[in-house]
Amino acid sequence: MMIDFHVHPLIDSIIDNEGILESVQKIFYWTNKPEPIDTLLSQMELAKIDKAVLLPIDCTTTYGCKLPSNEAVSKLVNEYPDKFVGFGSVDPHKKDAVKEISDVVESMGLRGLKLSPPLQKFSPNDFTLMSPIYKKIEELDVPVVIHSGMFWQFTEKLSISKPILFDEVALKHPNLKIVLSHFGFPWIWEATVVIMKHPNIYVDLANPFTTTPFEHFELIFNRILGKRVVESCIEKKILFGSCFPRIEIDKMVKALKRLPLEEKTINRIFSENAKTLLKM
Ligand SMILES: [Zn+2]
Repeated sequence: MMIDFHVHPLIDSIIDNEGILESVQKIFYWTNKPEPIDTLLSQMELAKIDKAVLLPIDCTTTYGCKLPSNEAVSKLVNEYPDKFVGFGSVDPHKKDAVKEISDVVESMGLRGLKLSPPLQKFSPNDFTLMSPIYKKIEELDVPVVIHSGMFWQFTEKLSISKPILFDEVALKHPNLKIVLSHFGFPWIWEATVVIMKHPNIYVDLANPFTTTPFEHFELIFNRILGKRVVESCIEKKILFGSCFPRIEIDKMVKALKRLPLEEKTINRIFSENAKTLLKM
C-alpha cells in the first residue's frame, strides 16, 4: 500500500466560502483555484497512491480562515473512506484549543493533527502556549505533522521552523509522535540528527523547494546525506509526501523511485513507516 502523507485538501467542493481565493493566495502563495476532487483522485491513481493523508490548517487568529475546516475534511473522508486519512488542525491561540483537539480525534474520527509555526504564528518551543496542546495530542496517541523548514511568510522569522527546536519538544514530550514536514529543508542534517536521536520524530519529503522533484531528492539523498546514511540510520523515519496541489503526485513518486536506494528502503518510505505511524 502506497501512502502520500502530505496532501493539502484544497478541494472546491469543500472550500466554497467567499474570499477563499484571497486566503489561499495569502497562505499558500497559490494563485490557482481549489481543485475538483477528481483531480486529486486521478493524480493518486496515476501515481499508484492508495491513500492520501489530508492536512488542513486552521489560521483563524492569523488569517481569519480555515483551509479547510475539520468538519469538511471529516466529510471528505466519510465520502471516500478507502482513499483518505483525515487529519485535523486547531489554532493554538484559541482558548478552547485543547478541547477541540479531543473533539477532532474522538468525535470526528480524524487520525492526527496538523500545525504550522509560520502560518499559525507560534514557536514550537513556546511551552507556555504549546505544552497543553502537545500533552493532549500525546495523550490521544495520534501523530502531529508540523511544518518545518523553508516558508514564504514575510512577517515571520525562519528560526521558528528549525528542526533543532524539536529536540527540546521531544525532551519534554517524549511520547509525542511528530512528523517534521519537508525534511526541514534546507536544514537537512539538523533534521537528520533530530530523527536519529528521538524515536518518535519523523520527516516527510513534501515539496521540491528548489528545483525539479528529482533534482531535489538527488540533492538531499545523494549529495547531502548519501545512500549509506539514509539506509543505515534513518530509513525507518522518512515518509513520502507530495504537497499536492503544489506539485503533481506522480512526479514526486517517479523522482523518488529513480534514486539508487534499496527496494526495502523505498518500501519503508512509501508504505511501512506511514503504516506504523497510522497504526494500520
Ligand atoms: Zn505542503
